[in-house]
Amino acid sequence: MIDALIISGIFVGFAAIGVLLYRLHLARAAFGKEVETWRLKLDHDLQQARDERNRLLDALGDAFLLVDADANIRFANQAALSLFGGRELLGRPVGEAFLDPRLAEALLRCLATGQPVQSKVVLPQQTSPRGNLETRGFNAWVIDAAQLSETPGTNPTTRVVIRDVTSEYQLDQIRKDFVANASHELRTPLAIISGYLENLIDDGMVEEPEMARRFLTIMRKHTERISRIVEDMLVISRLESGEASAVNIEPFKFRSCINDILERLESMIRNQEAEVTVTLPDPLIVIHGDRFYWTQVLFNLVENALKQNPYKGLRIEIGCEIAGESIRIWISDNGVGIPSADLPHIFRRFYRVEKHHSQQEIKGTGLGLSIVKRAIEAHHGTIGVTSVPGRETKFLITIPREPAVQAVLPAAAIL
Ligand code: ADP
Repeated sequence: MIDALIISGIFVGFAAIGVLLYRLHLARAAFGKEVETWRLKLDHDLQQARDERNRLLDALGDAFLLVDADANIRFANQAALSLFGGRELLGRPVGEAFLDPRLAEALLRCLATGQPVQSKVVLPQQTSPRGNLETRGFNAWVIDAAQLSETPGTNPTTRVVIRDVTSEYQLDQIRKDFVANASHELRTPLAIISGYLENLIDDGMVEEPEMARRFLTIMRKHTERISRIVEDMLVISRLESGEASAVNIEPFKFRSCINDILERLESMIRNQEAEVTVTLPDPLIVIHGDRFYWTQVLFNLVENALKQNPYKGLRIEIGCEIAGESIRIWISDNGVGIPSADLPHIFRRFYRVEKHHSQQEIKGTGLGLSIVKRAIEAHHGTIGVTSVPGRETKFLITIPREPAVQAVLPAAAIL
């Protein structure tokens, strides 16, 4: 009896242990499952956080890279990938990924010193990250590198921002060139005026009325030239100011604009016995634009044709027609024309084909065509030129037919 009790006690004991072990097993399995669920959730959250971070970094306009202590690229956003033309970046050393060592220099300096580095790099287009052997010119970049704060003892990560500042650089260059050219253009007539003043006052020429009159006439001519340059510079600066109010859009009859300039140029046309033809399939054609600038555009183009061909028998055509959604305007002449090597530069400020003329012979300010181009761009139009010397030199303007939204010249359009 006692034995039976002991045996059943042992049996119950084993059964209890078995149940306990089974429960333990179940609990462990449940715990493992829960841990796994948490691990998956954490991985998922981590991945989501990474995706979110990458999305944010991809939304940046600037190229962004994360670089480890061995100068290997660990992360590159979309802008960086497109900057480097889709080349493989991840895992590559920066020295290998960047085409030009000057671009990597700032970053390597930051890695070596641990100090933040900001530097501007100007590269010829052939060696810039966009590397293009076809294009000439320069690209400018600001490289901003700094170490991210890390737990001590771990390898630090460095973040690099590469900002394309090419358009700012180009604008800056254009401004510098403009100031240099404008100063040069103004210095010459000023020096001439100053020379004659010295003759008149210091050398006593003022006592000789005949000579004094001659000198004063020359001085007046050069003063007028200075005023013309300043006037033209003011027009350009107004057009490039980017202010909407610089261009006043209203409808006007193109024919009346042509009549105005023909009236103003009448004596030149008569003296040169030039033949001016107006081709207007629709004489009532209306342009939506700033009449002041359109008068200036036509005046500059027709005056150029006359100025460049100061002989008798020149033929000039002024034309305007509707072509679908656009209006086409052209001014052509059969004069000396423009050499093909000069054609790409003709709209640049102070650019002249005839570079070797003396001051006496200079026919214009060198700003006429750049005013024309900017005025047309301010009307959302384009201008091109073709020239077969002696046969036909044709300036062709295309503008939208619909009234343009109040035009503002984008800074990047300046060249
Ligand atoms: P400018 O005010 O000195 O005339 P522009 O900018 O108007 O300067 O013109 C630049 C250059 O383009 C001129 O120096 C001239 O050599 C050339 N050019 C412009 N229009 C003509 C044309 N119709 N025929 C020949 N050359 C032209």
